[in-house]
Amino acid sequence: MMSSKANLTDSPALHFEVEARDGEARAGVLTTRRGPIETPVFMPVGTAGTVKGIRFEALESDDLNAQIILGNTYHLWLRPGIDIIKEAGGLHRFIGWDRALLTDSGGFQVWSLGALRKINEEGTEFRSHVDGSLRFLSPEVSMEVQAALGSDIVMVFDECAPGEASHEDTERSMQLTGRWARRSKMAFDQLQATAADTGRVDAEGLNGAQALFGIVQGAGHLDLRRQSLDQTVEIGFDGYAIGGLSVGEEKSVMFEVIDEIAPKMPKESPRYLMGVGTPEDLVESVARGVDMFDCVLPTRNGRTGQAFTARGKLNIKNSRWAKDNRPLDELCPCSVCRRHSRAYLRHLYMSGEMLASILLTHHNLAFFLDTMRGVRQSIRSGDFPKFRRDFTERLRANGE
Ligand SMILES: [Zn+2]
Repeated sequence: MMSSKANLTDSPALHFEVEARDGEARAGVLTTRRGPIETPVFMPVGTAGTVKGIRFEALESDDLNAQIILGNTYHLWLRPGIDIIKEAGGLHRFIGWDRALLTDSGGFQVWSLGALRKINEEGTEFRSHVDGSLRFLSPEVSMEVQAALGSDIVMVFDECAPGEASHEDTERSMQLTGRWARRSKMAFDQLQATAADTGRVDAEGLNGAQALFGIVQGAGHLDLRRQSLDQTVEIGFDGYAIGGLSVGEEKSVMFEVIDEIAPKMPKESPRYLMGVGTPEDLVESVARGVDMFDCVLPTRNGRTGQAFTARGKLNIKNSRWAKDNRPLDELCPCSVCRRHSRAYLRHLYMSGEMLASILLTHHNLAFFLDTMRGVRQSIRSGDFPKFRRDFTERLRANGE
């Protein structure tokens, strides 16, 4: 085993190269210790160590070919618990996934508990939704848990201000996020130096350690967003995320923030927009300079009978599909669309068959991942404005 200390100072945890630009949109390659990821990239969300409703073989298949998925620190920490995942040799081994993993910090999940949590300078106290026990999450605890999970990209522990928060409240929250980012970085560096990371692998040109991303907060207040970006860049991270969007604010506010912040983020680092959004949001955010996305929409909506298609959303419960033998999306090359009809999928859904969720989830993920493939190709060939225009027009045609 190589000396981790010498390694850590010699080479970075990840490498990011922008290879083509079209306006603010960028296409590039993000190389993690588990291999290269073409950007812009959509990352399916695997909350409890599973991307709900889909097997890992399907995620790896040519149909989907997901290069990186998410894991949720909060959920995995509460259940099955860190001891079990450590014993398995980290999250990759526990779930049987060799490709890259990004873990969130738990900050957002704790925040969404609302009144059930208590925040102070040290961290956040809350009751576990699993067994009601009193738990405490802080920057140090989050870093420790993410090291034990051994994810390839770690997120700092942050505090999210609600979309409608006043300037004063948002400023207080944003400053706290800044102090927590510093503590996250310090704890993270110590954990890397003491080999607490269970996911360590030798990777050519990289130090094999975890990468750490900072998060820009500040709700819809642009001056606070700029301050948050400055203080985050000053600390210095392997990548930068925009957090606290898609939490109930108007869509126009979301794009105002992205317009203002994304182009000011370090050009040589990956930019990650957390928890966003619809296929249209993805394309529009790429146009504003974002490289990475995650969202539960394709999986969650798949389970409730909603399909995303090139011509907008399609509700499979609708009786108009009862005798419709066309595929979900006539433009989609996925295995579900090649084999099954709307009529069959509707029948499965109405009968409460679990296959309905599985097939809809598969198609939805294929649609999101395919959309990003199209985005990447069009940026590389200089056709992104046309791709964006055609994509939006087709969606708005809403030809269910
Ligand atoms: Zn399909």
